[in-house]
Amino acid sequence: MSDSLLDRANKGILALKPYEPGKPIEETKKELGLQNIIKLASNENPLGISPKALKVIFQNKDLNRYPDGNATSFKEVISQIEGIKTSMITIGNGSNDLIEFVSKCFLSEGDNAIYSQYGFAIYPLAIKSTGAKAIKAKAKDWGHDLSLMKDLIDGNTKVIFLATPNNPTGTILESNDIEEFLEEIPSNIAVFVDQAYFEYIEEDKYKISFDLIKKYKNLIVSRSFSKAHGLAALRLGYGVSSEEIAEFLNRVRQPFNANSLALAAGVEAIADNEHIAQSIEINKSGMEKVKKAFDALDFKYIESFGNFISFDSQMDSDSSFDFFLRKGIILRSLKVYEMPQHLRVSIGLEDEMDAFIKVLEEYKKAL
Ligand SMILES: *Cc1c(COP(=O)(O)O)cnc(C)c1O
Repeated sequence: MSDSLLDRANKGILALKPYEPGKPIEETKKELGLQNIIKLASNENPLGISPKALKVIFQNKDLNRYPDGNATSFKEVISQIEGIKTSMITIGNGSNDLIEFVSKCFLSEGDNAIYSQYGFAIYPLAIKSTGAKAIKAKAKDWGHDLSLMKDLIDGNTKVIFLATPNNPTGTILESNDIEEFLEEIPSNIAVFVDQAYFEYIEEDKYKISFDLIKKYKNLIVSRSFSKAHGLAALRLGYGVSSEEIAEFLNRVRQPFNANSLALAAGVEAIADNEHIAQSIEINKSGMEKVKKAFDALDFKYIESFGNFISFDSQMDSDSSFDFFLRKGIILRSLKVYEMPQHLRVSIGLEDEMDAFIKVLEEYKKAL
């Protein structure tokens, strides 16, 4: 045997590059010797956690006990609010967990899964880690080209990943178009619809209703608590699917994948309508303000339906990223997404957006 242990790793893993998260605040402060850093890099809720959710976190005295592996109370609340059976829900340690479960359940060597160019970076990682082939469908106007995705299906296709709104482009799909897509493709292909930014969607035509699952048993929809609900640090998300698929997804789920604090906070966060409404309001006004600034300074941006917006920095995005970083603002370079000049900015609080726009003006002058 001449191969080393690492050479003998799962073939899919050999070709992977790890996901690079947004730069953390404290590390960056130390690194650059800056007092103040504004992080607009990871689409977190700038308002913070719901006060009601924070309260139950501090009340929890049972941290010596394992979490409820079935997430009973959490599932019951989701079930009531969304009008679905608890048996249709799969709990995730963040909604990213669901991307892994679906990949693990349906993909192995010889299979393939389809995702869109500029689609969320976790999809190809999860697909490839199973040894399956990740097929990237060329984007149309920065968004998903459903008709091309359909054409790319072959006998080995088992999963299709859609994100709406998509990160990092912010593009969106109409529910009608997704339904038409489900109608046209073979029902033995899983369609994963990622709605991590669901709460920010204003028009009903873009909201993927769980009712669709009754008709399309191959549909899996995910939701996250990391964005509008402000629980990114706790890692909580869930998937909704037919009971049969949920039973499969739960086979690969670690029994305690969501921790007690996350589950308790999730129950409060999802019912805190005031906090959600305020978060959406902040996003809306911040988005308007930043778009106005882009227009005034002549920066092209991609119309976004999420809590972030991507713009053409008119320069190599590693350099433009660096310019903002040195002025204390962490953005996201989209080079890894084949968008070599684009930066993504998360919508922050009003004063954070003002600070961003001030640096954007300086950047424009320096161009
Ligand atoms: C942020 C994000 C997620 C993951 O969120 P979790 O923190 O794992 O719930 C999933 N999909 C998209 C498109 C995202 O932007």
